[in-house]
Amino acid sequence: MSLTDTYNRKISYLRLSVTHDCNLRCRYCVPHYDLPKPSKPSLLSYNDLFRVAQQSAQLGMQKLRITGGEPLVRPGIISFLERLKDISGLGEIVLTTNAMLLKEMAASLRHADVKRLNISLDSLKPEVFTAMTGGGKLNRVLDGIAAAEQAGFPPPQINVVVLRGVNDEEIFDFASMAIDKGLTVRFIEYMPVNGDSDWNKLYVNSDEILKRLSAHHQLTPQKRAEGAGPARYFQLDHSSARVGVISPVSKHFCASCNRIRITADGLARGCLFSQEAIDLKPYLLRDDEALSEILKIIIREKPLRHNLSEGFHTNEFVPMSAIGG
Ligand code: SAM
Repeated sequence: MSLTDTYNRKISYLRLSVTHDCNLRCRYCVPHYDLPKPSKPSLLSYNDLFRVAQQSAQLGMQKLRITGGEPLVRPGIISFLERLKDISGLGEIVLTTNAMLLKEMAASLRHADVKRLNISLDSLKPEVFTAMTGGGKLNRVLDGIAAAEQAGFPPPQINVVVLRGVNDEEIFDFASMAIDKGLTVRFIEYMPVNGDSDWNKLYVNSDEILKRLSAHHQLTPQKRAEGAGPARYFQLDHSSARVGVISPVSKHFCASCNRIRITADGLARGCLFSQEAIDLKPYLLRDDEALSEILKIIIREKPLRHNLSEGFHTNEFVPMSAIGG
């Protein structure tokens, strides 16, 4: 079974956040000002998260990405992932992490049949990394990447949010890292979602990133595979390495968007930037049929597109750390 929305997009990808908590405070993700404290979000139990994943798989979701906050900080995450692998019809389970805890957890994640890892890594300079992440240690990430390789994971995709004057000069170091390690590095445009009044100054358009890279490297565009997601990929200097750019601001990819998102407290969104979300909790109190029906409605009513490129206000706050990117 597969589901399409009103605009005939096949929806096959669920991003499921398992926690709002994070062990980092990335400047582009966590807001700079104090938000009114929400009442303590009532996290869905692992049992409810499992039911959401199971019903989604029955509706045709083929890919499940576990995200956060930082997914590896929620106690019991490994047992939860082990349960997920028994859901029939779910093609693959993948996970996005900042890798702070990956060194210790890589082998268990592999054992739980997580297929691939996306790792957020914004700088290869220890002091810049610490400043961008609000205290993170670069060594932890590099050790985590090595541990993942040792545990048998394929080379991870590295996600870099590019900020002008902060880490934009490092795009060349990241390209070298991609070539050395035979992996994919994806440069993400900074989205104005955390109320940062400096957003305009920090934002770097992905066409500029490609132009700057192509002065030093041969970039060969790669064909987009069906359902491949938002990145545009380029082979680097005829090596097995790739760079990708993700351009949510300059070139929206809504026409091919195949995903829905659910937060750790059960709010479902058809678009990262929707101000509206449907609370799954009342449906989880009922039976699986009720849950499945509401998931069908969320899929069907996925918005046509977001409004980031034209006039999304930088004072509008999208809680990325809760939605999971
Ligand atoms: N803790 C995990 C991690 O660090 O990958 C998962 C959650 S994090 C919110 C998911 C992704 O969202 C990360 O790759 C992060 O860089 C990206 N992200 C967060 N805020 C962003 C922003 N304002 N613009 C672009 N990407 C952002």
